[in-house]
Parts: sequence; structure tokens; C-alpha cells
Amino acid sequence: MNRNLGEKLLCSNCRSQTLKLNIDEEDGQEILRGEMSCRVCGNVFPIEDGIPIFLDKNIFYFENIKEDVKVNLVDHINQKKMQIRFHHNENAEEENIELELRRPYGQTKLYQYLHHYDMNIAAKTFKDGFQDKELLSFGCGRGMDCEFFWRYGAKVAGLDITYSCLKLARERFKLIGGDVETICCDAEMVPLQDNCYDICYAYDSLHHCPKPYKAIKEMLRIAKEAVIIIEPNSSLIIDLSIKLGTTRLWESSGNYKHYFKIKYLNDFLKENGAKSVVNEFSFYKKFHRQPAWFSLLSKFPFFHAIKIALFMTRKSLGSLSNHCIVIGYK
Ligand SMILES: [Zn+2]
Repeated sequence: MNRNLGEKLLCSNCRSQTLKLNIDEEDGQEILRGEMSCRVCGNVFPIEDGIPIFLDKNIFYFENIKEDVKVNLVDHINQKKMQIRFHHNENAEEENIELELRRPYGQTKLYQYLHHYDMNIAAKTFKDGFQDKELLSFGCGRGMDCEFFWRYGAKVAGLDITYSCLKLARERFKLIGGDVETICCDAEMVPLQDNCYDICYAYDSLHHCPKPYKAIKEMLRIAKEAVIIIEPNSSLIIDLSIKLGTTRLWESSGNYKHYFKIKYLNDFLKENGAKSVVNEFSFYKKFHRQPAWFSLLSKFPFFHAIKIALFMTRKSLGSLSNHCIVIGYK
């Protein structure tokens, strides 16, 4: 954790900005181990491996999980614990770590193309560019999106509820020789001051939150210039697919999957500080692990045919697509 980040933080319990910093281990400007304590309410937030931890102890040490996902509709703490456990267990698999530290690089051309598909649309649509912008990724996981915007020249930071994911994100940036700030916290209650990042960004993470609009409100509060949201789009096609049982509402990580209604999201952004909103859509399926046939489809003429087909589908389906890419300018 850089000292600059320390100046942006606030107490996640009482929102006070007076945090007292105690350093146990540091390396230049980087604080590796220590704690921050709130001068008002007395809450203490540890810093481990350079990551400040603002998660409630009850969630950070996830245990006593009720396994029935239906419980999660009312017990949001349980839903969050289930997701932390799921992603934490993924991080313990040796083979998975190798993939996650570089994903989507080192994979086939088609895999890379699909993984950056929405982000590229967002990057082309965003009018101001990312050079030297401070960008905070909500639910950054193992840092894949942070790396994408870092390559665009942004100064990146990410928050996530799963501590071991943030450790991998830091590891990823060590490998590429870049800097990333990480905060372990709940996206619905972020320990950061108002307007302290230029851009707040979320990709396929808000739909994991029990209260996604609470997290979006946090994004709007923290962003100075804009919020960029890429999430599942609620459309007639999705509604039909849910009725037919081909789209599941519960994900394997234990969360209810929220599909965003574009009009509601647009209105919400405007009511909470966005002056204008731009919408884009995309229609495709992403694979976490690439199937064997991706190698063949990455070759000419298949790859080029897929690119054209995706473009045509996106343009013809419009708001009926399964992903929405929404930019709210403040
Ligand atoms: Zn406090």
C-alpha cells in the first residue's frame, strides 16, 4: 500500500477520515505491514502483504456457512462468505494460479479477443482516454482488467472482497513490472473518500453483489469524472432463456445473478450524479477456461469470420444483447 492510498482511505465503520497509521514493515513508499486505527470509533484495520483490509472480521474469516444458496436471498453476509470461499478455493489450485496470473495472455487469439471484447468497446467509447487517469476497479479479482487499463496508461487500483485474489493481482503486476493498489473491502461499503479516483469501473462483478445499486452509488461517490459498468443485460432474450431454463439465476460461486435493466440503470446513474450516460451492448459467450477447439477457431478464416459475426450480431441485436456497457459521465 502506497502512502498516497493511505490519504484517500476512511473508516468503513463510522466514515471518519482520521485514521492513524502504524507501520510495522515498509519498503520505500510502500507499506507492507501495519495497521490503521480510527481515531473516532476505535476500529482497527490491518495491512497485510501491502493490502489494507477493511472487511468485517465476520466476513474476512469466512466460516459457519449455510450451504443452501436460497438462504442468501435474505442472508447477505452468508452470500458474501460463500463467494469468498469459492474464489479463495480457486486460488489454491496450482494450475489455476498459472492461468490467472496471465489471463487472457498466453491463451489462444480467440480467447484473448473475447476476454477483451467488452473492455475494448468501453475503451473506444470512453471519450476522454485513460492516459494518467486514476482508475479504480470494483471487484478487480486477480487484476486482469487492471492490467488492461494499465496498458492504456492508467494508474490502476482494485478492490475485492477476496483477499487471496488481491494477492494474485499484486503478483500479476510484479510479473509485468507495473504498479497496482489493492484494497480488501466490500463493494457496497467502500472505505474511500468522495471523488478520490477519476474513473470507477466494474466488469462482471456488480451482479455478484446482493445489493448492486448500493455498490453503484459508491462508484458514483468515489469517481470524479465517470463510471464504466459492464454487466449482464436484462433483455427479452435473457428473460426467455431464464424461462426455458438455459440461463441460471444462481452462479456456482453462490450468488444470485443480477441482470441489469438498462433504463433503470440509466435513470439511477442520472439521479445519483451522472450528467450524461452512453450505452453500448454486446452479444457473445465468454469461457473461463478455453475449450480445445479454440485453437482451430483462432486461425484464418475462422477467427475473422467470428469477428465479423460478433460485430453483425452486436449491431443488429442492440439492447437485446446479453451484455450492457454503460458509461456515466459526471
Ligand atoms: Zn471509525
